[in-house]
Amino acid sequence: MFDQAATRPLPMIDPYGRSIDYLRVSVTDRCDFRCVYCMSENMAFLPKKDLLTLEELDRLCSAFIGKGVRKLRLTGGEPLVRKDVMTLFRSLSRHLDHGTLDELTLTTNGSQLARHAADLAACGIRRINVSLDTLDTAKFREITRWGDLDAVVKGIDAALAAGIHVKINAVALRGVNEAEIEDLVAWAHGKGMDISFIEVMPLGDIEPSRLDQYLPLSLLRARLGERWTLTESPHRTGGPARYVDVAETGGRVGFITPMTHNFCESCNRVRITCTGTLYMCLGQDDAADLRAPLRASESNDLLSEAIDRAIARKPKGHDFVIDRRTRQPAVSRHMSMTGG
Ligand code: SAM
Ligand code: SF4
Repeated sequence: MFDQAATRPLPMIDPYGRSIDYLRVSVTDRCDFRCVYCMSENMAFLPKKDLLTLEELDRLCSAFIGKGVRKLRLTGGEPLVRKDVMTLFRSLSRHLDHGTLDELTLTTNGSQLARHAADLAACGIRRINVSLDTLDTAKFREITRWGDLDAVVKGIDAALAAGIHVKINAVALRGVNEAEIEDLVAWAHGKGMDISFIEVMPLGDIEPSRLDQYLPLSLLRARLGERWTLTESPHRTGGPARYVDVAETGGRVGFITPMTHNFCESCNRVRITCTGTLYMCLGQDDAADLRAPLRASESNDLLSEAIDRAIARKPKGHDFVIDRRTRQPAVSRHMSMTGG
């Protein structure tokens, strides 16, 4: 359907009246890290033959853009470890040139960013999210199991030098980076970057207990408030983060609180896995297979119908719980599958 005045597709509307104009695509379930809250140490990854090709991913994303999606985020797993992923960024950037897409972006662990930053900027990428939970080399290795902090910091610097705005995302982990929160904020703001904190979510089985990891952000915010002057900010990026301005640093801190405050009423997004499964909610199991209709015909008619049917059953929201009685994760799949 088209808005005649603007000749742009109207956004898809779900049963609760929410416009769906944001798509996140996990381009691989693989990663060069094994973050303790995200993956188990011995993750089983999908056989490569099950993955959509880069051409199929392009076709799928383009079909969503044709149905009113205005913001596209590539994620994973680690998107920058997918072979030839820059080909996909390059081809998708045509939608920015045509004005049919407002933003093409990615979420990355930063490990491969140093060598890709300039190319990403050339593809029209203006803002990226880099996940970084600590500035302590040993702790970084503990959290990521395999990661090299130095490479990530170099990647961030390369992105900034290429003119890309970087937002840092840090998962708040009780007893792990809890004492470092102010340092992380001061470091990010010192480099002109916003930073958001995320509550750990019960997605997929991992060896440590999420109950031990979980730190409600209300505590963290109170602690920041003891050191700095925080004022509520009207700033929104179309996501679930709620921001405060920090008077002393001139920067912003975001809080993403899926556990303590459910933000589903304003949800504008859906997610696709690297095998072409569409999840209408990060915290629910219902899904739609888009790979079969994608491969069944060269035209997008079947695909478009499958997308419409799926959006028509987007659930009202998630219901995450982390407590001693709830031993099972809310959903069995890991965040690296659906894409963060
Ligand atoms: N590998 C990339 C990265 O780490 O940025 C992209 C994928 S990762 C799954 C996306 C985001 O999800 C990261 O910021 C990560 O910290 C977060 N994440 C992973 N598992 C999580 C969990 N169980 N609860 C909360 N956030 C999680
Ligand atoms: Fe990899 Fe990102 Fe998951 Fe860490 S959070 S294991 S970097 S996918």
